[in-house]
Amino acid sequence: MQATVPTSEQPIPLGEPAARRSLQARVTWGDRVVTVGGNAPVRVQSMTNTDTVDVIGTAIQVKELALAGSEMVRITVNTPEAAEAVPHIREQLDRMQIDVPLIGDFHYNGHRLLTEYPAMAQALSKYRINPGNVGKGDKRDRQFGMMIEAAIRHDKPVRIGVNWGSLDQELLAMLMDTNASRAQPWEARQVMYEALIQSALDSAAYAVELGMRREQVLISCKVSGVQDLVAVYRELSKRCDHPLHLGLTEAGMGTKGTVASATALGILLQQGIGDTIRVSLTPAPGEARTQEVTVALEILQSLGLRTFVPSVTACPGCGRTTSTTFQELTQQIDHFLRAQMPVWRAKYPGVEAMKVAVMGCIVNGPGESKHADIGISLPGTGEAPAAPVYIDGEKAMTLRGEGIASEFQAVVEQYIERRFGQKTAVS
Ligand code: SF4
Repeated sequence: MQATVPTSEQPIPLGEPAARRSLQARVTWGDRVVTVGGNAPVRVQSMTNTDTVDVIGTAIQVKELALAGSEMVRITVNTPEAAEAVPHIREQLDRMQIDVPLIGDFHYNGHRLLTEYPAMAQALSKYRINPGNVGKGDKRDRQFGMMIEAAIRHDKPVRIGVNWGSLDQELLAMLMDTNASRAQPWEARQVMYEALIQSALDSAAYAVELGMRREQVLISCKVSGVQDLVAVYRELSKRCDHPLHLGLTEAGMGTKGTVASATALGILLQQGIGDTIRVSLTPAPGEARTQEVTVALEILQSLGLRTFVPSVTACPGCGRTTSTTFQELTQQIDHFLRAQMPVWRAKYPGVEAMKVAVMGCIVNGPGESKHADIGISLPGTGEAPAAPVYIDGEKAMTLRGEGIASEFQAVVEQYIERRFGQKTAVS
């Protein structure tokens, strides 16, 4: 077939996320530091759902979240007993050599807790302050100020975390009144967007006025609708350069929560908006809390922003794959690669960027396998019972018979050892 469509005059721009342009905050604990914003990688956060008073239970869940890949873990600090527990949770984590900073989540009484429990204020690495829940009327500024003073005293960054479920009602009412007097009033949702953004920016400006360094003030404006979140953060990122924490609040359970979070965060991260993320999934009964971390890692890896585990490319299967062998092999390889990562991360630097393909038949199998570092194309229905394996784009061998799965796993292991194994220096 002769080409009839003219070729583009310019090369098509590479698919990649836009650059971020935020300031950089430092989240510290002891002599350790995690940077957030600026040129730091987009960070993954999570939050415990244990009772903070339960020191061991909370420390264990923080450990699980950290080992799953969470780089900061937030805990509720809602009572004097919870405040007293925080330093002990930190000590327990240090004893377990879990290198992750703890963030305190404060509502209503944070000003008192941060003032009356200095050991807690010191043990935490960052404070989350919700401007909608710091007090009303003339108490508002005073109580907010007390929290900021604690942050300055202990040299901690803060996140001004606005949430539409607890939006400052006085500010919203004022903006509604202003809107009513407009010749062409905005839609109610647009007023709500403005209230979220103003609440965050006013509070951030006040924190800076009280003495916080601007880069140490992070901002989030969480809503539960994808389009609302995109609209709010696009505007927010135009109006400030504070590091931004992204998350679709109350995303829900399972597939719905995962897809909604990935859609919203994906759109914004692609536009260079967002310096930390959290996926707010409701765990199904019995489901691990770490699922929200797994999803967050997958979002960042899918966008090419970070790499955490080798990726497995697999076709969906179709009428050409009538046996379950193909699905079983894909699942087995995926589980195997994930399970090995805690050991491989140190032993095989760079292995997390490896690409493995497991394909169901000859239609796209060899082609996709050649694009991967290592790939296998299983025989589809009616094809000869042979599975060609491609390594670095070249056909390396053909596997046959019952043991294809275990043989392919061994080939993958040998490849990793050869390519990513540390070379021992010869003296
Ligand atoms: S690669 Fe083959 S088995 Fe997989 S979806 Fe395509 S045609 Fe079907």
